[in-house]
Amino acid sequence: MSIFEYAPAPESRAVVDIKESYGLFVNGEFTSGAGTAFKTVNPATEEVLAEVAEADASDVDRAVKAARKAYDKIWGPMPGRERAKYLYRIARIIQERSRELAVLETLDNGKPIKEARDVDVPTVAAHFFYYAGWADKLEHSGYGTTPLGVAGQVIPWNFPLLMLAWKVAPALACGNTVVLEPAETTPLTALLFAEICQQADLPPGVVNILTGAGETGRAIVEHPGVDKVAFTGSTDVGKAIARAVAGTDKKVTLELGGKAANIVFDDAPMDQAVEGIVNGIFFNQGHVCCAGSRLLVQESVADEVLERLKRRMATLRLGDPLDKNTDVGAINSAAQLARIRELSEAGEAEGAERWSAPCELPTSGYWFAPTLFTGVSQAHRIAREEIFGPVLSVLTFRTPSEAVEKANNTPYGLSAGIWTEKGSRILDVAGKLRAGVVWANTFNKFDPPSPFGGYKESGYGREGGRHGLAAYLQGGQA
Ligand code: NAD
Repeated sequence: MSIFEYAPAPESRAVVDIKESYGLFVNGEFTSGAGTAFKTVNPATEEVLAEVAEADASDVDRAVKAARKAYDKIWGPMPGRERAKYLYRIARIIQERSRELAVLETLDNGKPIKEARDVDVPTVAAHFFYYAGWADKLEHSGYGTTPLGVAGQVIPWNFPLLMLAWKVAPALACGNTVVLEPAETTPLTALLFAEICQQADLPPGVVNILTGAGETGRAIVEHPGVDKVAFTGSTDVGKAIARAVAGTDKKVTLELGGKAANIVFDDAPMDQAVEGIVNGIFFNQGHVCCAGSRLLVQESVADEVLERLKRRMATLRLGDPLDKNTDVGAINSAAQLARIRELSEAGEAEGAERWSAPCELPTSGYWFAPTLFTGVSQAHRIAREEIFGPVLSVLTFRTPSEAVEKANNTPYGLSAGIWTEKGSRILDVAGKLRAGVVWANTFNKFDPPSPFGGYKESGYGREGGRHGLAAYLQGGQA
């Protein structure tokens, strides 16, 4: 039940011109692919948006050769201040075409337009601006100025354009060229980005976009002409990639899954904490690697927090992602919906108590109501495995040391949140958490100068900030 009923306020999809079919972007041009074309759908309606080419190993070979030539002849030797001009131009075009990019992202991914418009696309532009600024200052990076060569990059579907920006901007700033595969369910904004590269007059071969699925990604990773592999996705595929590149000279960075603890102490500012919990797990339908999917709440305030949280969850508006008032959009695919359902059923079967926000689910498309589980023990699957959906597992603790122990009791280590009024407690607890990013009295904040990345099974290497340059320069570790 909403406090207020809102009239529909849909963003117009007329700002985007979706073609019937798309080719691969190789050497500055769209070309056909040798694989079997596939369809990409709007997950909110199951409507087919476009047909997209599939790149096979021969297409990957063409793209890597184009990237190598561009690296040797143009992009590698180009002075940093000249590369910067292209990156600034790309950043400005992204800003100019931001509405189009946001609507397309929402259509292909299912995320609410207010998130695509206010978070994804502005952060994408900010990444290009930020790394454009580094291109002529690499001698101050601490990692030298020598690029690696051709970067093979594979990204997931949860933040399609943002993950592209995190990978492409630092690679180009450092003088590398790129062959990138977007995820199979969300190829469209990467293809629009290819058009933006044309519009920016980026030299042919500097950026190549190959659509496809796992086999395309694998062919990129395994191609002997690729000097560096950058992957964001699941831990299972990350492990397969680590095995595939072992024994080669390729450098690798892996940004994988997470099962973050969001820790609420008894002195936390309650209203803000509840907003932070909601943002932590329901932002982007919980399709967030660093989502605060395990709520650890101090026992003395657990009842109060849960009562407020349920009241707040009942006001979340789920529905048409293009509606500007929508808080919770569609699940990205039927396969992901099946996984969320399977893990939620396992939660019930293992004895946890399920509560879902009362909301009507649309009859077509892929949907899952915002849900929380109480009575969760650390052994439950819903406390250990990444659900990657709008499902929160609630655990309690009594002392700060118990909170730290439970927070760290996970194979992952990507992020964590702390809610307390005491600065000393923030510093003490943050220092003990084995997580790449720790937010205090906020959650899910991203900005280009801050490095992001994981410990343990959440992967290795950092993206963003000066640290993000290390992955693309000879003097870096990764
Ligand atoms: P996924 O691993 O199934 O797929 C990711 C990408 O890898 C896709 O483009 C896919 O086509 C490709 N791929 C699949 N098999 C491959 C192979 N053998 N070799 C090379 N490429 C292959 O993951 P997903 O379901 O698309 O994304 C969700 C996962 O991504 C979650 O686990 C999430 O936590 C993680 N993620 C991590 C971060 C981070 O920064 N740590 C960010 C976003 C998502």
